Amino acid sequence: MEDLKLSFEEMWEKIIACDRSYDGLFFTAVKTTKIYCRPSCRSRKPKKTNVEFYYTIDDVEKAGYRACKRCQPEVGHPQREVAQKVMAFLVSHYKHKIILQDIADHVGVSPYYLERLFKHETAETPRTYLEKIRVDKAAHLLQSTKRTNLDICYEVGFQSPSNFYKAFRRRKQCSPSEYRALKGVK
Ligand SMILES: [Zn+2]
Repeated sequence: MEDLKLSFEEMWEKIIACDRSYDGLFFTAVKTTKIYCRPSCRSRKPKKTNVEFYYTIDDVEKAGYRACKRCQPEVGHPQREVAQKVMAFLVSHYKHKIILQDIADHVGVSPYYLERLFKHETAETPRTYLEKIRVDKAAHLLQSTKRTNLDICYEVGFQSPSNFYKAFRRRKQCSPSEYRALKGVK
């Protein structure tokens, strides 16, 4: 698995939001219970200091954790695994311009099949999922840095500010500046 380019803080934000779109990309391990979960698990949230993150089931199980009975993070199937490979690819390459063919080449299926499979597994197309990753990144940078909207727009891989503003509003129901103000960043 390639390096996901998600910080601890970002992964923590996903598990607090029970965000299904990151399932399979990383696992939440709770030191006190020795149990690991999917990011979207609805069980009571652990204390932040008791959490560590793993990128593979192998690693988390080697570290002595057992799978959560509720979210069953160890259960997978082939189509889901392809979708997760695509998700991991997009999370790692969001800064670049990516076309469907690039993703299809990466996972070794046709673009047509890829799009159908991905939509079935995630209810998003690879394009809209990539947009979500970029908006999530932008939201994280808006609340954790003082970088300008324009700077963040290009940093997260949008090709133009107008695309950035449109996508951001669609996903977060406010503008980047409003989002920053809401999060109390001056
Ligand atoms: Zn769980």
